[in-house]
Amino acid sequence: MLRPAYKSLRSLRSFSTTASATMKVLPVQARSDNWMYIVVDEASGEAAVVDPYDAPKLAQRVKEEGVKVCWAVTTLITTHHHNDHSGGNLAFLDLHPGIKAVGGSNQGPGTNTIVKDGDEFKLGSLDVKALATPCHTQDSICFFVEDKAKGQRGVFTGDTLFLAGCGRFFEGNAAEMNAALSKLAKLPEDTLVYNGHEYTTGSAKFGLAIEPENAALKGLFERSQTDKVTTGKSTIGDEKKWNVFIRLDTPEAKKATGETEPLKVLAKLRELKNSF
Ligand SMILES: [Zn+2]
Repeated sequence: MLRPAYKSLRSLRSFSTTASATMKVLPVQARSDNWMYIVVDEASGEAAVVDPYDAPKLAQRVKEEGVKVCWAVTTLITTHHHNDHSGGNLAFLDLHPGIKAVGGSNQGPGTNTIVKDGDEFKLGSLDVKALATPCHTQDSICFFVEDKAKGQRGVFTGDTLFLAGCGRFFEGNAAEMNAALSKLAKLPEDTLVYNGHEYTTGSAKFGLAIEPENAALKGLFERSQTDKVTTGKSTIGDEKKWNVFIRLDTPEAKKATGETEPLKVLAKLRELKNSF
């Protein structure tokens, strides 16, 4: 059993971003626009990594940050099998042997714990729930992480939900993506969204081509021009305001696609985005 080498509440508190924060999430960039994450339960010092594609970089970051609070990485989470997400798993597991490696299928290298929709596990004091969202890939699975005591929530969406966007339908169809996005839209409104790529500028630009008067979307686009780390700074509630792939019933979406039936609107929007 892996345990933090040292647990001092005082040192943990001094490093917290807010006095009451327990869940801490650090985005770390891989390739040109992939997001990897370190998720820490500051109460226990237990940590997870999400999609550690650039294993040496992420392990180094864990080491640098961990020195301050003595984290122990106990869990590797894979959002889907695509190489730019799961391709670093084995290298990370070499650096952190014996940890739990969670994913929606065994297509992610090194996965030793396959989870299905609704499965739950603990990360220290945090609760993690798997939400199966097949479409981008059939093994795409999102992870809802919650500190119930402090009311902090985040969801790791891989390539299913991007800020103001969604993933391509590589292994699925519009009905599956609609089911996936609807499932995510049912999470509490204040759930922070941690997505798989920094695609926000392009997604917001496409959104504005569909809904030119959407003020929330304009705000997101402007923010993405200066802030290159948009992930983790907006919520599921925001997605309902600015994500055209969720807003299938608007007159603008119907007009842009020439369709009225939601699944046809979604399929057409994805086609339009593919060639945007
Ligand atoms: Zn992908």
